[in-house]
Amino acid sequence: MGAKTGEAMMPRHVKIIATLGPSSADFATMLAMVEAGVDVFRINLSHADQKTTLDYIQKIQSIREQTGKRLAVLIDLQGPKIRVGDLSEPLPLEEDELVLLTDTERYASLRTAKLPTSLPSKVIPIGYHRLLEDIQVGHRILFDDGRLAVRVQEKKQEGWIARVEIGGVLHRRKGVNFPDSTLAIPALTEKDMHDLRWLIQTCPDQIHWIALSFVRSAQDIRRLKEVLAHLMEGQPVYLWPRVIAKIEKPQAIENFSEILQEADAIMIARGDLGVELPYERLPILQKQLIAECIRHAKPSIVATQIFEHMIQHPYPTRAEVNDVANIVYDGADAVMLSNETSVGKYPVRVIQIMDRILRWIEDHIDEIYLPKVGTGKWGAFPREDSPTFRSDVVCFQACKMAVEVNARAILSMTSTGYTAFQISSYRPRSPIFIFTHNRYLLDLLNLVWGVYAFYYDRFESTDRTIEDVIAIVRERGYVQPGDIVINTASMPIHARGRTNMIKISVVE
Ligand code: PGA
Ligand code: MN
Repeated sequence: MGAKTGEAMMPRHVKIIATLGPSSADFATMLAMVEAGVDVFRINLSHADQKTTLDYIQKIQSIREQTGKRLAVLIDLQGPKIRVGDLSEPLPLEEDELVLLTDTERYASLRTAKLPTSLPSKVIPIGYHRLLEDIQVGHRILFDDGRLAVRVQEKKQEGWIARVEIGGVLHRRKGVNFPDSTLAIPALTEKDMHDLRWLIQTCPDQIHWIALSFVRSAQDIRRLKEVLAHLMEGQPVYLWPRVIAKIEKPQAIENFSEILQEADAIMIARGDLGVELPYERLPILQKQLIAECIRHAKPSIVATQIFEHMIQHPYPTRAEVNDVANIVYDGADAVMLSNETSVGKYPVRVIQIMDRILRWIEDHIDEIYLPKVGTGKWGAFPREDSPTFRSDVVCFQACKMAVEVNARAILSMTSTGYTAFQISSYRPRSPIFIFTHNRYLLDLLNLVWGVYAFYYDRFESTDRTIEDVIAIVRERGYVQPGDIVINTASMPIHARGRTNMIKISVVE
């Protein structure tokens, strides 16, 4: 079904996040990715240095200017990722053999000393200085996303003796997971603090979302917000970058409700989560966490191995297509591509295919949208204990009316972004066009399910504003004369207060 002349293709609801890396670093590739449907670019500070980061940010800005498209920037802080030290050569590990695990400092001295014959001859350096203190007998240690595994048996002065449970070849600098241990390591490392300070001093209005890795408790998020408060001194909270808690530790699952209170969004980081927990737990957890986010009007992102096959091949596997469909069905705001776009062979094609699948699925299932009767499968409903209860009710009813009258779009005003998150959380089928005078929000909101933002700064009268915003979407071909739209706003318009009115309009 093609669009009628002058009619623009309706926007997608589920957003696409693409990680930048060597495969996607050049301008032409980035531009083609945006044209294929990228909504948010992710810069992973585990890999990108300052110069690369700045280069990406400048290119993103040029693409916005060239295409007129919104693009949010998501900065992923490295967090306390622990890695294998500098092995001089790859180390083959056989199942059941004994190895010695030691911290990188001890490793340096062990290499020059002669090891007692009572110790295993294969030594693995691990970049964690409290290795002897924080690990207990019987704990598992996993390497390289769980491809190799050992279990510690006995503590020695030099390190831990461990038995190999899953063998393979261990390479230097691979990630290490400690699913059974509680490590005394802050979620916000020295490097993260340094990166944050630099980013906010260099380009505060160019970064919209900050993801914190390996979050374990709400305190980790509060700590990051304290640092932001300090760096953003004096700026209102709605101009701060929003914080994403990456859920990739068992402790984050245990403390999920409290974490969700503090965070602005969450990422289901299935790579590490599927190593730290048995991976059969992922599918149900994904559904539960997303539903909880929708009930609290906080965006959720599903990440990792979505199109793993496409790192090397031009097509996804059928199982991967199914995974994407299920992510849409589970209600996530965004899907995130990592290696597929950062180091994969097909950074543009992967976006084209993702866009196609998302659109098809969105067009052919009804259950993800707010129904005429009831509250939808997630049960999101304005909560009476919410400090913004009355405005939440207006947002909810606007979505209800949009279903009732089969509205072509919902057009809403916001100063802080609040209304955009609220309306999105009720999952209306009509696209959510958000108008704001706050330029920072225009790109930031691009991560949110169904939301597209426009600049608007005339606050003379409500009638005038409603006419103006309808004209803006009509000019862009999103609505046609005769279409019905729902407007929400705050009256009186110049007071820029909370959403308190709904109007049904017919486009002229
Ligand atoms: P990462 O996080 O890519 O930073 O490791 C995502 C994940 O663990 O799934
Ligand atoms: Mn991770």
